[in-house]
Amino acid sequence: MGLKLGEIANIITDCVTMYDVCDVYGLEVRRNFISCPFHNENTASLHIDNKFWHCFGCGEGGNLIQFVEKLFNLDFKDTVIKLDNDFGLYLTQSEISEQTKRKAEELRARREKEQKEKDEKERYIQKAKEDYLTAWKYYLIYAPYPETPNWDINTDPYVVDQYLKHVDKRYLQAISELNKLSEIAEIYDFKIERWEAERMFLK
Ligand SMILES: [Zn+2]
Repeated sequence: MGLKLGEIANIITDCVTMYDVCDVYGLEVRRNFISCPFHNENTASLHIDNKFWHCFGCGEGGNLIQFVEKLFNLDFKDTVIKLDNDFGLYLTQSEISEQTKRKAEELRARREKEQKEKDEKERYIQKAKEDYLTAWKYYLIYAPYPETPNWDINTDPYVVDQYLKHVDKRYLQAISELNKLSEIAEIYDFKIERWEAERMFLK
């Protein structure tokens, strides 16, 4: 006894992404965009994510199954069979071997793991961004005057001590946070320059 077509379509949608589809059918992806196969264009304006697609050129869009339907001009059933075969799941065959089931399960587990890692990374970046903004805010709001004294090796330790004593601790904390977070921001490309922070917090 085989699975229903709808169930197979769901499993395929769980296991396969738009990136896999583009890869297998030879469509080059650049920064989540491909050249739209449904209208003539020079610039790639069809956007994809894991499960969905939308073309900003011709307005077409939908889910993964609908993309393959349209790409090969097939109906739903033949599209599901094609994907099933092309991605080596073989769920549409009446006898589903243990090996095939395992393979489908493995694919699904891998996808879930990848999604989890992606979510975790996004949360981490989001948190770092918020901390970065807070650090800038405290840095600007609690800055003493003069902001950076001209100290050198001969500066009287008493002067340094007095200065630090009167500087708001939140300012000093913000400096160390900014140092740490600007490195992370550099890596993940969300660096905020001082002038941008000033525009946000010094109104
Ligand atoms: Zn298009």
